[in-house]
Amino acid sequence: MPANKRLLILPGDGIGPEVMGEVRRVIDWMEKRRAATFDVKEGLVGGAAYDVHGTPITDETMAQAMEADAVLLGAVGGPKWDDLPFADKPERGLLRLRKDMDLFANLRPAVVFDALADASTLKEEVIRGLDIMIVRELTGGIYFGEPRGIEDLPDGTRRAVNTQVYTTPEIQRVARVAFELAGKRGNRVCSVEKANVMESGVLWREEVQKVHDTEFAGVELSHMYADNCAMQLVRNPKQFDVIVTDNLFGDMLSDTAAMLTGSLGMLPSASLGAVDGSGRRLALYEPVHGTAPDIAGKGLANPLATLLSFAMCLRYSFDMDEDADLIETAARKVLDGGLRTADIMQPGKARVSTSVMGEAITGEMDKLAG
Ligand code: NAD
Repeated sequence: MPANKRLLILPGDGIGPEVMGEVRRVIDWMEKRRAATFDVKEGLVGGAAYDVHGTPITDETMAQAMEADAVLLGAVGGPKWDDLPFADKPERGLLRLRKDMDLFANLRPAVVFDALADASTLKEEVIRGLDIMIVRELTGGIYFGEPRGIEDLPDGTRRAVNTQVYTTPEIQRVARVAFELAGKRGNRVCSVEKANVMESGVLWREEVQKVHDTEFAGVELSHMYADNCAMQLVRNPKQFDVIVTDNLFGDMLSDTAAMLTGSLGMLPSASLGAVDGSGRRLALYEPVHGTAPDIAGKGLANPLATLLSFAMCLRYSFDMDEDADLIETAARKVLDGGLRTADIMQPGKARVSTSVMGEAITGEMDKLAG
């Protein structure tokens, strides 16, 4: 029997608890059918934590997150908490998790399921079969660099400054994540920066190349300027396997790539930290979407982004590739079979609720597992 896997589930607000309920269903299925055992703890984050504890995440929950092998989060926020002071806002809970866990690598896959290929705004032949992974550096760069601020100048005008700053260890550690991932996928990494106009881009390019040459020579590496990458993503996205880039460019390019797939309810993500002395890597998995207050509590939410985030958790935190494949294949088959939640509804398909979609996934997993 494999050792217990410590999983902390933080459903959060809005549709978070609804979509996380379907992950629970899949976990139950796996414990019954796959002899996988999870040590699952559940906690509060965001508005839900504020309502009970007066803070968007308690120290106790934070400690549980640091001890867990993986954290699975729904989403946080909503109009109920919009007027809270900055420090109490639901988003602060998520930001503290990301900061304290030092989650420096954000993984955003953009996968087009055949059944949804016509949901994209791009031509079907451009995106059919798309499967790319964007690795964004998440804790450095211009969003954190000093000096920063807005100052009044003597002539009455104002001046704003942000600083793009990267060190070699920051670049090397995210490059390693990208090369390791590529090794499990199409074995190609495209590193993206603006080395033509930014010194931080020159350093980025040199360091990624160094990591490649010394540690990952077997992976194909190319370099591209960020503006060209934005164009290539909408012109011919299938040319990419893994893209690795900094915080600012990654922010934009991952949203561009997300829209190639056409639906927010289908997009998973992972954020990874450093590997510690025992070989454990802190990790947080969450859907890209928010709390969808407009549909919360109505059983309309698409649980697939969260289920696919759990599949990433199985793959990257627990080395359970076969089980991750099972969830992803089940999702593909359910969509091929014509079931749709409201957000991905198409003419002639069957519209189903959050829980019916979840049931269909475990039903399909039943068939696949034989
Ligand atoms: P949103 O992602 O919550 O919703 C945008 C639109 O997409 C809505 O129409 C919503 O109904 C729909 N949608 C989103 N996820 C869906 C799903 N799984 N199934 C079906 N439809 C889905 O973004 P928003 O409306 O800008 O933000 C709402 C709240 O969520 C805000 O409080 C915001 O701060 C918060 N938010 C949280 C996160 C996070 O926790 N990571 C991310 C984004 C937004």
